[in-house]
Amino acid sequence: MIEEKILSTADTADLSHDRRRVTILGSTGSIGRNTLDVIGRSKGEFQIEALTAHSNVKLLSEQAREYNVPFVALADDSGYSELKDALAGTATEVAAGPEAVIAAAARNADIVVGAIVGAAGLRPTMTAVRRGATIALANKECLVCAGALFMEEVAKHQAVLLPVDSEHNAIFQVFDFNNADSVEKIILTASGGPFRTCTREEMAHMSPAQAVAHPNWDMGAKISVDSATMMNKGLEYIEAYHLFPVRQDQIDILVHPQSVIHSMVSYHDGSVLAQLGTPDMRTPISYALKWPKRLTIPAKRLNLVEISRLDFEAPDEIRFPAIRLAREALQTGGGAPTILNAANEIAVQGFLKGQIGLLDIAAIVEETLAVMGSHNISRIQDVHDIDDNARVIAQSLMEKLSR
Ligand code: NAD
Ligand code: MG
Repeated sequence: MIEEKILSTADTADLSHDRRRVTILGSTGSIGRNTLDVIGRSKGEFQIEALTAHSNVKLLSEQAREYNVPFVALADDSGYSELKDALAGTATEVAAGPEAVIAAAARNADIVVGAIVGAAGLRPTMTAVRRGATIALANKECLVCAGALFMEEVAKHQAVLLPVDSEHNAIFQVFDFNNADSVEKIILTASGGPFRTCTREEMAHMSPAQAVAHPNWDMGAKISVDSATMMNKGLEYIEAYHLFPVRQDQIDILVHPQSVIHSMVSYHDGSVLAQLGTPDMRTPISYALKWPKRLTIPAKRLNLVEISRLDFEAPDEIRFPAIRLAREALQTGGGAPTILNAANEIAVQGFLKGQIGLLDIAAIVEETLAVMGSHNISRIQDVHDIDDNARVIAQSLMEKLSR
Protein backbone atom coordinates (compact mmCIF):
# COMPACT_ATOMS: atom_id res chain seq x y z
CA MET A 1 0.00 0.00 0.00
CA ILE A 2 2.68 2.42 1.08
CA GLU A 3 5.03 1.43 -1.78
CA GLU A 4 2.22 2.03 -4.26
CA LYS A 5 2.13 5.66 -3.29
CA ILE A 6 5.78 6.33 -4.06
CA LEU A 7 6.05 8.86 -6.83
CA SER A 8 7.19 7.63 -10.20
CA THR A 9 10.89 8.32 -10.45
CA ALA A 10 13.40 9.56 -12.93
CA ASP A 11 13.67 6.33 -14.89
CA THR A 12 10.09 6.67 -16.16
CA ALA A 13 10.47 10.28 -17.25
CA ASP A 14 11.86 11.10 -20.65
CA LEU A 15 12.88 14.69 -20.16
CA SER A 16 16.12 14.43 -22.04
CA HIS A 17 15.21 16.82 -24.89
CA ASP A 18 17.14 20.03 -25.14
CA ARG A 19 13.98 22.10 -24.99
CA ARG A 20 11.15 20.80 -22.89
CA ARG A 21 7.71 21.42 -24.35
CA VAL A 22 5.35 22.78 -21.73
CA THR A 23 1.58 23.11 -21.63
CA ILE A 24 0.09 25.32 -18.92
CA LEU A 25 -3.47 24.56 -17.87
CA GLY A 26 -4.57 27.84 -16.27
CA SER A 27 -1.87 30.13 -17.70
CA THR A 28 -3.66 33.37 -16.79
CA GLY A 29 -3.75 32.67 -13.04
CA SER A 30 -1.19 33.36 -10.35
CA ILE A 31 0.67 30.04 -10.84
CA GLY A 32 0.28 30.25 -14.63
CA ARG A 33 1.79 33.75 -14.78
CA ASN A 34 4.64 32.77 -12.46
CA THR A 35 5.31 29.73 -14.66
CA LEU A 36 5.54 31.94 -17.77
CA ASP A 37 7.85 34.28 -15.87
CA VAL A 38 10.20 31.35 -15.14
CA ILE A 39 10.00 30.16 -18.75
CA GLY A 40 10.57 33.68 -20.11
CA ARG A 41 13.77 34.00 -18.08
CA SER A 42 15.10 30.61 -19.08
CA LYS A 43 15.70 31.32 -22.75
CA GLY A 44 16.21 28.20 -24.84
CA GLU A 45 15.18 25.80 -22.05
CA PHE A 46 11.47 25.50 -22.83
CA GLN A 47 8.92 25.99 -25.55
CA ILE A 48 5.21 26.35 -24.97
CA GLU A 49 2.93 23.78 -26.59
CA ALA A 50 -0.45 25.04 -25.35
CA LEU A 51 -2.02 27.49 -22.91
CA THR A 52 -5.51 27.49 -21.43
CA ALA A 53 -7.63 29.95 -19.45
CA HIS A 54 -11.17 30.25 -18.20
CA SER A 55 -12.23 33.58 -19.71
CA ASN A 56 -9.38 36.12 -19.71
CA VAL A 57 -9.12 36.63 -23.49
CA LYS A 58 -6.87 39.66 -23.26
CA LEU A 59 -4.13 38.03 -21.18
CA LEU A 60 -4.36 34.66 -22.94
CA SER A 61 -3.95 36.27 -26.36
CA GLU A 62 -1.01 38.39 -25.14
CA GLN A 63 0.66 35.26 -23.75
CA ALA A 64 0.03 33.37 -27.00
CA ARG A 65 1.67 36.13 -29.03
CA GLU A 66 4.61 36.57 -26.69
CA TYR A 67 5.44 32.86 -26.54
CA ASN A 68 4.46 31.96 -30.11
CA VAL A 69 2.05 29.31 -28.86
CA PRO A 70 0.67 26.68 -31.30
CA PHE A 71 -2.63 26.09 -29.44
CA VAL A 72 -4.76 28.02 -26.95
CA ALA A 73 -8.03 27.01 -25.33
CA LEU A 74 -10.59 29.11 -23.49
CA ALA A 75 -12.89 27.13 -21.17
CA ASP A 76 -15.70 29.68 -21.45
CA ASP A 77 -16.79 29.40 -25.08
CA SER A 78 -18.60 32.73 -25.09
CA GLY A 79 -15.18 34.37 -25.58
CA TYR A 80 -14.30 32.34 -28.66
CA SER A 81 -14.78 35.00 -31.39
CA GLU A 82 -13.01 37.64 -29.33
CA LEU A 83 -10.02 35.32 -28.84
CA LYS A 84 -10.05 34.36 -32.52
CA ASP A 85 -10.00 38.06 -33.48
CA ALA A 86 -7.28 38.85 -30.96
CA LEU A 87 -5.06 36.18 -32.51
CA ALA A 88 -5.90 36.88 -36.15
CA GLY A 89 -2.80 36.84 -38.33
CA THR A 90 -0.86 34.54 -35.96
CA ALA A 91 -0.22 30.81 -36.39
CA THR A 92 -1.99 30.05 -33.12
CA GLU A 93 -4.87 27.58 -33.31
CA VAL A 94 -7.79 28.74 -31.15
CA ALA A 95 -10.44 26.56 -29.49
CA ALA A 96 -13.03 27.07 -26.76
CA GLY A 97 -15.18 25.11 -24.32
CA PRO A 98 -14.27 22.55 -21.65
CA GLU A 99 -13.41 19.98 -24.36
CA ALA A 100 -10.87 22.40 -25.82
CA VAL A 101 -9.06 22.53 -22.46
CA ILE A 102 -8.93 18.73 -22.52
CA ALA A 103 -7.60 18.86 -26.09
CA ALA A 104 -4.83 21.18 -24.87
CA ALA A 105 -3.87 18.66 -22.17
CA ALA A 106 -3.86 15.86 -24.76
CA ARG A 107 -1.26 17.58 -26.95
CA ASN A 108 2.20 16.18 -26.91
CA ALA A 109 3.95 18.37 -24.31
CA ASP A 110 6.65 16.86 -22.07
CA ILE A 111 5.40 18.76 -19.03
CA VAL A 112 1.86 19.81 -18.21
CA VAL A 113 1.54 22.41 -15.48
CA GLY A 114 -1.73 21.82 -13.62
CA ALA A 115 -2.58 25.38 -12.57
CA ILE A 116 -6.36 25.43 -12.93
CA VAL A 117 -8.13 26.20 -9.66
CA GLY A 118 -10.58 23.68 -8.24
CA ALA A 119 -12.01 20.34 -9.32
CA ALA A 120 -12.49 21.89 -12.79
CA GLY A 121 -8.86 20.89 -13.30
CA LEU A 122 -9.49 17.18 -12.81
CA ARG A 123 -10.55 16.14 -16.33
CA PRO A 124 -7.78 17.99 -18.20
CA THR A 125 -5.08 17.01 -15.70
CA MET A 126 -6.20 13.38 -15.84
CA THR A 127 -5.96 13.55 -19.66
CA ALA A 128 -2.31 14.52 -19.33
CA VAL A 129 -1.73 11.77 -16.74
CA ARG A 130 -3.22 9.18 -19.10
CA ARG A 131 -0.73 9.94 -21.82
CA GLY A 132 2.11 9.48 -19.34
CA ALA A 133 3.19 13.12 -19.24
CA THR A 134 5.19 14.76 -16.48
CA ILE A 135 2.72 16.74 -14.42
CA ALA A 136 3.85 19.77 -12.44
CA LEU A 137 0.86 19.87 -10.14
CA ALA A 138 -0.32 23.02 -8.37
CA ASN A 139 -4.01 22.13 -8.62
CA LYS A 140 -4.28 20.41 -5.21
CA GLU A 141 -8.05 20.00 -5.55
CA CYS A 142 -7.39 17.19 -8.11
CA LEU A 143 -5.69 15.14 -5.41
CA VAL A 144 -8.24 16.03 -2.77
CA CYS A 145 -11.28 15.05 -4.82
CA ALA A 146 -9.87 12.02 -6.64
CA GLY A 147 -6.74 11.12 -4.60
CA ALA A 148 -6.38 7.34 -4.74
CA LEU A 149 -7.80 7.04 -8.26
CA PHE A 150 -5.62 9.88 -9.49
CA MET A 151 -2.50 8.20 -8.06
CA GLU A 152 -3.52 4.84 -9.55
CA GLU A 153 -3.73 6.44 -12.98
CA VAL A 154 -0.35 8.09 -12.47
CA ALA A 155 1.20 4.68 -11.71
CA LYS A 156 -0.69 2.85 -14.48
CA HIS A 157 0.38 5.30 -17.20
CA GLN A 158 3.86 5.87 -15.77
CA ALA A 159 3.21 9.57 -15.55
CA VAL A 160 5.57 11.56 -13.33
CA LEU A 161 3.96 13.73 -10.71
CA LEU A 162 5.99 16.66 -9.39
CA PRO A 163 4.40 18.80 -6.68
CA VAL A 164 4.39 22.57 -7.20
CA ASP A 165 2.51 23.45 -4.00
CA SER A 166 5.35 24.96 -1.96
CA GLU A 167 4.99 22.66 1.07
CA HIS A 168 4.84 19.50 -1.05
CA ASN A 169 7.64 20.70 -3.27
CA ALA A 170 9.70 21.26 -0.11
CA ILE A 171 8.94 17.74 1.14
CA PHE A 172 9.71 16.32 -2.31
CA GLN A 173 13.14 17.95 -2.11
CA VAL A 174 14.02 16.43 1.28
CA PHE A 175 12.13 13.12 1.30
CA ASP A 176 14.37 10.08 0.95
CA PHE A 177 12.25 8.01 -1.44
CA ASN A 178 14.83 5.21 -1.45
CA ASN A 179 14.49 4.83 2.31
CA ALA A 180 10.85 5.74 2.88
CA ASP A 181 10.84 3.44 5.92
CA SER A 182 13.29 5.76 7.65
CA VAL A 183 10.77 8.62 7.60
CA GLU A 184 9.01 9.27 10.89
CA LYS A 185 6.86 12.25 9.95
CA ILE A 186 6.29 14.91 7.39
CA ILE A 187 5.63 18.33 8.85
CA LEU A 188 3.55 20.70 6.76
CA THR A 189 4.16 24.29 7.73
CA ALA A 190 1.35 26.84 7.57
CA SER A 191 1.57 30.62 7.70
CA GLY A 192 -1.72 30.71 9.61
CA GLY A 193 -3.13 33.15 7.05
CA PRO A 194 -4.26 36.75 7.56
CA PHE A 195 -6.45 35.90 10.59
CA ARG A 196 -3.94 33.79 12.52
CA THR A 197 -4.30 35.91 15.66
CA CYS A 198 -8.00 36.82 15.31
CA THR A 199 -10.83 35.63 17.51
CA ARG A 200 -13.82 33.84 15.91
CA GLU A 201 -15.87 36.97 16.64
CA GLU A 202 -13.40 39.10 14.65
CA MET A 203 -13.21 36.56 11.82
CA ALA A 204 -17.00 36.55 11.50
CA HIS A 205 -16.89 40.15 10.27
CA MET A 206 -13.95 39.92 7.86
CA SER A 207 -14.66 41.02 4.29
CA PRO A 208 -13.52 39.22 1.13
CA ALA A 209 -10.94 42.00 0.56
CA GLN A 210 -9.46 41.39 4.03
CA ALA A 211 -9.46 37.63 3.50
CA VAL A 212 -7.58 37.73 0.19
CA ALA A 213 -4.85 40.02 1.57
CA HIS A 214 -2.41 37.28 2.53
CA PRO A 215 0.58 38.40 4.64
CA ASN A 216 3.26 36.39 2.78
CA TRP A 217 1.98 35.08 -0.57
CA ASP A 218 0.33 36.72 -3.57
CA MET A 219 -2.17 34.13 -4.87
CA GLY A 220 -5.51 33.65 -6.62
CA ALA A 221 -8.70 34.58 -4.72
CA LYS A 222 -9.87 31.03 -3.96
CA ILE A 223 -6.64 29.79 -2.38
CA SER A 224 -6.31 33.08 -0.50
CA VAL A 225 -9.70 32.53 1.14
CA ASP A 226 -8.68 28.91 1.80
CA SER A 227 -5.61 30.27 3.61
CA ALA A 228 -7.78 32.60 5.67
CA THR A 229 -9.99 29.70 6.84
CA MET A 230 -6.96 27.36 6.92
CA MET A 231 -8.92 24.99 4.67
CA ASN A 232 -5.86 25.35 2.45
CA LYS A 233 -3.82 23.46 5.05
CA GLY A 234 -6.59 20.86 5.32
CA LEU A 235 -6.52 20.36 1.54
CA GLU A 236 -2.72 20.18 1.66
CA TYR A 237 -2.88 17.55 4.39
CA ILE A 238 -4.95 15.35 2.06
CA GLU A 239 -2.68 16.24 -0.86
CA ALA A 240 0.39 15.18 1.15
CA TYR A 241 -1.20 11.88 2.10
CA HIS A 242 -1.64 10.97 -1.57
CA LEU A 243 1.71 12.28 -2.79
CA PHE A 244 4.01 10.70 -0.25
CA PRO A 245 4.37 7.15 1.08
CA VAL A 246 3.17 7.92 4.63
CA ARG A 247 0.20 7.07 6.82
CA GLN A 248 -2.19 9.77 7.96
CA ASP A 249 -0.80 9.72 11.50
CA GLN A 250 2.63 10.58 10.07
CA ILE A 251 1.47 13.99 8.82
CA ASP A 252 1.73 16.96 11.18
CA ILE A 253 0.73 20.59 10.68
CA LEU A 254 2.84 23.33 12.25
CA VAL A 255 2.01 27.04 12.14
CA HIS A 256 5.07 29.08 11.16
CA PRO A 257 4.04 32.70 10.45
CA GLN A 258 7.18 33.79 8.54
CA SER A 259 6.78 31.16 5.76
CA VAL A 260 10.54 30.63 5.62
CA ILE A 261 10.57 26.89 6.27
CA HIS A 262 8.31 25.55 3.54
CA SER A 263 7.99 22.10 5.17
CA MET A 264 10.08 19.38 6.81
CA VAL A 265 10.66 15.64 6.98
CA SER A 266 11.73 14.02 10.24
CA TYR A 267 13.59 10.70 10.27
CA HIS A 268 13.82 7.85 12.78
CA ASP A 269 17.36 8.85 13.75
CA GLY A 270 16.14 12.23 15.02
CA SER A 271 17.24 14.20 11.93
CA VAL A 272 14.86 16.80 10.56
CA LEU A 273 15.42 17.98 6.98
CA ALA A 274 13.77 21.18 5.81
CA GLN A 275 13.61 23.29 2.66
CA LEU A 276 13.80 27.05 3.25
CA GLY A 277 13.46 30.11 1.07
CA THR A 278 11.68 33.42 0.70
CA PRO A 279 8.02 32.97 -0.27
CA ASP A 280 8.19 33.04 -4.08
CA MET A 281 6.30 30.40 -6.09
CA ARG A 282 8.85 30.67 -8.90
CA THR A 283 11.23 28.56 -6.79
CA PRO A 284 9.00 25.44 -6.56
CA ILE A 285 7.67 25.99 -10.10
CA SER A 286 11.19 26.11 -11.52
CA TYR A 287 12.18 23.04 -9.53
CA ALA A 288 9.31 21.09 -11.11
CA LEU A 289 9.99 22.43 -14.62
CA LYS A 290 13.71 21.59 -14.64
CA TRP A 291 13.72 18.61 -12.26
CA PRO A 292 16.01 16.88 -11.44
CA LYS A 293 18.17 19.92 -12.18
CA ARG A 294 17.70 23.53 -11.06
CA LEU A 295 17.27 26.84 -12.84
CA THR A 296 18.58 30.24 -11.79
CA ILE A 297 15.66 32.21 -10.35
CA PRO A 298 15.83 35.80 -9.07
CA ALA A 299 13.74 35.08 -5.96
CA LYS A 300 14.73 37.37 -3.10
CA ARG A 301 17.55 35.60 -1.25
CA LEU A 302 16.92 34.42 2.25
CA ASN A 303 18.61 36.64 4.82
CA LEU A 304 18.30 34.87 8.15
CA VAL A 305 20.14 37.63 9.98
CA GLU A 306 17.54 40.13 8.79
CA ILE A 307 14.69 37.76 9.68
CA SER A 308 16.52 37.01 12.97
CA ARG A 309 13.88 34.67 14.40
CA LEU A 310 11.49 31.97 13.29
CA ASP A 311 8.29 31.35 15.23
CA PHE A 312 6.18 28.23 15.55
CA GLU A 313 2.84 27.40 17.13
CA ALA A 314 0.36 24.53 17.12
CA PRO A 315 -2.63 24.89 14.80
CA ASP A 316 -5.86 25.88 16.57
CA GLU A 317 -8.62 23.62 15.31
CA ILE A 318 -11.25 25.41 17.38
CA ARG A 319 -10.75 28.74 15.65
CA PHE A 320 -9.93 26.99 12.35
CA PRO A 321 -12.28 23.96 12.17
CA ALA A 322 -11.47 23.41 8.47
CA ILE A 323 -8.28 21.55 9.47
CA ARG A 324 -10.30 19.12 11.57
CA LEU A 325 -12.88 18.66 8.81
CA ALA A 326 -10.17 17.76 6.29
CA ARG A 327 -8.48 15.35 8.70
CA GLU A 328 -11.79 13.65 9.45
CA ALA A 329 -12.74 13.50 5.76
CA LEU A 330 -9.48 11.74 4.93
CA GLN A 331 -10.06 9.33 7.80
CA THR A 332 -13.62 8.61 6.64
CA GLY A 333 -12.35 8.07 3.11
CA GLY A 334 -14.59 7.19 0.15
CA GLY A 335 -16.31 10.29 -1.16
CA ALA A 336 -15.79 12.43 1.97
CA PRO A 337 -12.76 14.38 0.66
CA THR A 338 -14.59 14.93 -2.66
CA ILE A 339 -17.59 16.36 -0.77
CA LEU A 340 -15.35 18.48 1.45
CA ASN A 341 -13.65 19.99 -1.58
CA ALA A 342 -16.80 20.62 -3.61
CA ALA A 343 -18.71 22.19 -0.70
CA ASN A 344 -15.70 24.36 0.08
CA GLU A 345 -15.49 25.60 -3.52
CA ILE A 346 -19.17 26.60 -3.47
CA ALA A 347 -18.93 28.25 -0.05
CA VAL A 348 -15.76 30.17 -0.98
CA GLN A 349 -17.48 31.48 -4.14
CA GLY A 350 -20.45 32.52 -1.97
CA PHE A 351 -18.16 34.28 0.50
CA LEU A 352 -16.34 36.13 -2.30
CA LYS A 353 -19.71 37.32 -3.63
CA GLY A 354 -20.67 38.57 -0.18
CA GLN A 355 -23.48 36.02 0.26
CA ILE A 356 -22.13 34.44 3.45
CA GLY A 357 -19.60 35.21 6.18
CA LEU A 358 -16.14 33.71 6.52
CA LEU A 359 -17.13 31.36 9.33
CA ASP A 360 -20.05 30.03 7.30
CA ILE A 361 -17.60 28.38 4.90
CA ALA A 362 -16.50 25.61 7.27
CA ALA A 363 -20.06 25.35 8.64
CA ILE A 364 -21.42 24.69 5.12
CA VAL A 365 -18.69 22.15 4.45
CA GLU A 366 -19.47 20.32 7.71
CA GLU A 367 -23.21 20.37 7.03
CA THR A 368 -22.78 19.16 3.43
CA LEU A 369 -20.67 16.24 4.67
CA ALA A 370 -23.37 15.37 7.22
CA VAL A 371 -26.26 15.62 4.72
CA MET A 372 -24.47 13.61 2.01
CA GLY A 373 -23.46 10.69 4.26
CA SER A 374 -20.99 8.09 3.06
CA HIS A 375 -20.20 7.26 -0.55
CA ASN A 376 -17.83 4.79 -2.16
CA ILE A 377 -15.61 5.73 -5.02
CA SER A 378 -14.54 3.04 -7.45
CA ARG A 379 -14.20 4.94 -10.71
CA ILE A 380 -13.63 8.50 -11.78
CA GLN A 381 -17.28 9.00 -12.76
CA ASP A 382 -18.16 8.46 -9.07
CA VAL A 383 -15.95 11.45 -8.23
CA HIS A 384 -17.75 13.65 -10.76
CA ASP A 385 -21.20 12.51 -9.54
CA ILE A 386 -20.39 13.06 -5.85
CA ASP A 387 -18.79 16.40 -6.67
CA ASP A 388 -21.92 17.50 -8.59
CA ASN A 389 -24.28 16.41 -5.79
CA ALA A 390 -22.21 18.06 -3.07
CA ARG A 391 -22.27 21.34 -5.01
CA VAL A 392 -26.08 21.26 -5.22
CA ILE A 393 -26.40 20.58 -1.49
CA ALA A 394 -23.82 23.19 -0.48
CA GLN A 395 -25.54 25.73 -2.72
CA SER A 396 -28.92 25.10 -1.11
CA LEU A 397 -27.45 25.30 2.40
CA MET A 398 -25.84 28.58 1.44
CA GLU A 399 -29.09 29.99 0.10
CA LYS A 400 -30.83 29.10 3.36
CA LEU A 401 -28.11 30.92 5.30
CA SER A 402 -28.09 34.03 3.16
CA ARG A 403 -31.88 34.44 3.23
P1 NAD B 1 -5.99 31.68 -10.03
O1 NAD B 1 -7.41 31.89 -9.71
O2 NAD B 1 -5.05 32.84 -10.00
O3 NAD B 1 -5.89 31.02 -11.50
C1 NAD B 1 -6.67 29.93 -11.88
C2 NAD B 1 -6.49 29.59 -13.33
O4 NAD B 1 -7.45 28.56 -13.67
C3 NAD B 1 -6.76 30.75 -14.29
O5 NAD B 1 -5.93 30.65 -15.42
C4 NAD B 1 -8.21 30.52 -14.72
O6 NAD B 1 -8.50 31.07 -15.99
C5 NAD B 1 -8.28 29.00 -14.74
N1 NAD B 1 -9.63 28.48 -14.49
C6 NAD B 1 -10.46 28.84 -13.48
N2 NAD B 1 -11.62 28.16 -13.55
C7 NAD B 1 -11.52 27.35 -14.63
C8 NAD B 1 -12.39 26.41 -15.23
N3 NAD B 1 -13.62 26.18 -14.74
N4 NAD B 1 -11.96 25.75 -16.33
C9 NAD B 1 -10.74 25.98 -16.85
N5 NAD B 1 -9.88 26.88 -16.32
C10 NAD B 1 -10.25 27.54 -15.23
O7 NAD B 1 -5.48 30.51 -9.09
P2 NAD B 1 -3.98 30.22 -8.58
O8 NAD B 1 -3.74 30.97 -7.33
O9 NAD B 1 -3.01 30.34 -9.71
O10 NAD B 1 -4.11 28.69 -8.16
C11 NAD B 1 -4.18 27.65 -9.11
C12 NAD B 1 -4.05 26.32 -8.39
O11 NAD B 1 -2.75 26.25 -7.79
C13 NAD B 1 -5.05 26.14 -7.23
O12 NAD B 1 -5.42 24.81 -7.17
C14 NAD B 1 -4.24 26.52 -6.00
O13 NAD B 1 -4.70 25.89 -4.84
C15 NAD B 1 -2.87 26.03 -6.39
N6 NAD B 1 -1.77 26.74 -5.71
C16 NAD B 1 -1.60 28.07 -5.91
C17 NAD B 1 -0.58 28.75 -5.28
C18 NAD B 1 -0.34 30.22 -5.51
O14 NAD B 1 0.65 30.75 -5.03
N7 NAD B 1 -1.18 30.91 -6.24
C19 NAD B 1 0.28 28.05 -4.41
C20 NAD B 1 0.09 26.69 -4.24
C21 NAD B 1 -0.94 26.04 -4.91
MG1 MG C 1 0.80 25.50 -0.26
